[in-house]
Amino acid sequence: MNTHIQDVRVRYAPSPTGLQHVGGIRTALFNYLFARSKGGKFILRLEDTDRTRTDDSYVQNLYDTFDWLKFKWDEGPDCGGAFGSYVQSERSELYKKYAQELIEKEKAYYCFCSAQRIDEVRQQREAAHSSESGYDRFCRSIEPQEAAKKAAAGELCTIRLKIPLGENTVFYDHLLGEIEWKNDDVNPDPVLLKSDGFPTYHLANVVDDHLMEISHIMRAQEWLPSVPLHVIMYRAFGWTPPEFCHLPMVMGQDGKKLSKRHGATSIDEFRKQGYLPEALINYVALLGASYEEGKDIYTLEELTQRFSLEKLNKAPAVFDYKKLEWYNGQYIRMKTDEELASLCLPYAINAGLFGSEEPTAQQRDVFVAIMALVKERLTFLNEVPEKVAYLFREPEIPAAEEFIPKKCDLTKTIELLQIGKELAGSLAQTPDDEQAENFIKAEAQKREIKLGDLMMPLRVAITGSRVSPPLFGSLRILGAERSTDRIENALKNLRG
Ligand code: GLU
Repeated sequence: MNTHIQDVRVRYAPSPTGLQHVGGIRTALFNYLFARSKGGKFILRLEDTDRTRTDDSYVQNLYDTFDWLKFKWDEGPDCGGAFGSYVQSERSELYKKYAQELIEKEKAYYCFCSAQRIDEVRQQREAAHSSESGYDRFCRSIEPQEAAKKAAAGELCTIRLKIPLGENTVFYDHLLGEIEWKNDDVNPDPVLLKSDGFPTYHLANVVDDHLMEISHIMRAQEWLPSVPLHVIMYRAFGWTPPEFCHLPMVMGQDGKKLSKRHGATSIDEFRKQGYLPEALINYVALLGASYEEGKDIYTLEELTQRFSLEKLNKAPAVFDYKKLEWYNGQYIRMKTDEELASLCLPYAINAGLFGSEEPTAQQRDVFVAIMALVKERLTFLNEVPEKVAYLFREPEIPAAEEFIPKKCDLTKTIELLQIGKELAGSLAQTPDDEQAENFIKAEAQKREIKLGDLMMPLRVAITGSRVSPPLFGSLRILGAERSTDRIENALKNLRG
């Protein structure tokens, strides 16, 4: 890593043409961590030059996503900074000026080709099975003065970069090393300024990275093919390019680029499912970086302390949904009951758990108390309403078979539940699980019945299910009276 660079300035430069997804967040996070680790600045720039695909709702989604993730840029459209505007559509005049500068330096030229002509060239090539693609450089040979006259007269035109042919472009990438590209293989004279006066990605990106004094460009490897032509542009302007670091791609388990086919990819989806931002950040930070400490859990702060370009991997990162789930479970268990209850509350309200909108004070207390019971086995926040519903409304009494332990019959089950009923009051009053367990074990022993056989019908009567959060805790939360009532009802049903 270049240590002579004093002022590290990096950026996340999304185009607001879609929801924020894992890949974008990974790019943003790595830039953030790099800036923090170097005492530099992290910048947000909106690359909204594609006017047909840009949408305000995606800008809003970007802000919502980062509010939720709780890591932020130092300069950006919402918080300002000395290098604004940070929105490309507000910088149009600037790009025109710089495109003009390249024309004057004869590093770019006016192109008067219509879309129709370009299409005809494409069709002819297709018919001739030609491997050539891209612009045929038709207008490159027009005398600059003549072209300038035509443009000044208002003839519709674009401005194209004049790629110097017969040369190679060499640049260095921190992860991939030195890369050499034949200019003749670079996108043939790409458009910099469109006929409507809007810049293309290439022009706006290069001009802004320069003007915003970006020191390092860290982004996904899919942008690598653009680098040679960007470097050509930097040189055409007489500017020094920033340093490059292209991050490994994020793949699904099948080795194909991560997409919706593999599962959730937008941060919104993860959020709705009940992922915690800490889990997502922790997992995403390891997508393409290894810290080799035999440690999995890292806070944002710890990541900041450890991040360096040397820890990045070249190989593609594989997105493992199971591992992410594991992280989520870990972070859920780190929450206090109060914190977890607050996080789960919106899901519970949404599921109508409390009848009306907001829980009553008593319902809230129950909700907090139940967190201790479910926390250990929770993977997603959105599992909570279903898991704990039996504490807020009477569960449906399951069919008799559900109550019957292995090798028992209905008569025996009724007997067992009758005993359960006698014990429920005392169990509900035990202060903790250990005492409850000792108590019920002793009772089972005394009566010469298996503990499991005693617990099963009791569990089904109390929770409405064979699989449920811990029984003793549930009894305590419900209290002696409601517990006994539930058992009574179940017994009535079983007796038919
Ligand atoms: N606007 C590009 C994107 O959508 C930015 C690529 C870059 O970082 O240069 O990802």
